[in-house]
Amino acid sequence: MQILDGKKAAQAIKDELKIDVAQLAAEGKKIPHLAAILVGNNGASETYVGAKVKACEEVGFRSTLVRLDENISENKLLDEIRLLNTDPDVDGILVQLPLPKHISDEEVINAIDPDKDVDGFHPVNVGYMLQGLPTFVPATPHGIMLLLQHYKIETAGKHAVVVGRSNIVGRPMSVLLSSNTNPGNCTVTVCHSKTNNIKEFCLQADIIVAALGKPEFVTADMVKEGAVVIDVGITRMEDPTKKSGFKLKGDVEFDTVAPKCSWITPVPGGVGPMTIAALMKNTYKSCMQKN
Ligand code: NAP
Repeated sequence: MQILDGKKAAQAIKDELKIDVAQLAAEGKKIPHLAAILVGNNGASETYVGAKVKACEEVGFRSTLVRLDENISENKLLDEIRLLNTDPDVDGILVQLPLPKHISDEEVINAIDPDKDVDGFHPVNVGYMLQGLPTFVPATPHGIMLLLQHYKIETAGKHAVVVGRSNIVGRPMSVLLSSNTNPGNCTVTVCHSKTNNIKEFCLQADIIVAALGKPEFVTADMVKEGAVVIDVGITRMEDPTKKSGFKLKGDVEFDTVAPKCSWITPVPGGVGPMTIAALMKNTYKSCMQKN
């Protein structure tokens, strides 16, 4: 078994970007600028946004963090997005999900200028992705594809099982893995909460992508010998022995599954850092396209 080390692969991507940004600066050109909107003070969201802002600093991007009150109205939030849409200095906009219940994710995502939608959630960009056209690919599935590429994992002709069909992970993941690209060219099965006999499907998989948000759902008896296992799940579990009071659990029971795999991602240190690296790549691309 070998580890798909997302931390290392993400560092390699960030190191490359750092060189590119330094070059832009040396030539007096515009530096990429990411604007992140955080509504409320959900602990996990704070951590994710903080990591994104830190990654911007690391590669030399500008970043702006717009903090908004939990009770902000949807209209006020949409106004903030419109301001960023028209700000010529801003290349990428992301709104950290989840949003408070009184705000519609859909309205908010649709309000972001597709040319600045570095999370790749806007329907226009999703449409481009479906057609295999250049676009902003959602950061988590994009990061997973970059990880497979980094470790030269053979995907063509393989059977991939994606567990989860959300718009931000499972569904785009299934599209990318089945695309006529490298990595890609898999035969893909998508499982969800209404799938009967998930174990049967998983046992047929050469590649499993677990993205359901149920800690340790994928167990050793569901995985065939030699499979590649990508664990997207991140769930905070109470742990009084930790300073933070919690530990992170993936959707895969790592200790029992790992010995059966050819490759596996750890949690943390697998998909998470790759998501951020992919977001940085999208922001750089946006800046290059506009300038
Ligand atoms: P989500 O929107 O809640 O979607 C979960 C998906 O899993 C749904 O399609 C759901 O099916 C399916 N599902 C739920 N229970 C299931 C079960 N028992 N069997 C089979 N399928 C089941 O979650 P998400 O946003 O995709 O995120 C999934 C996980 O990835 C979460 O732990 C999240 O924190 C993590 N995540 C990590 C990163 C990262 O950077 N590492 C990024 C994004 C998300 P239905 O459609 O039928 O409801």
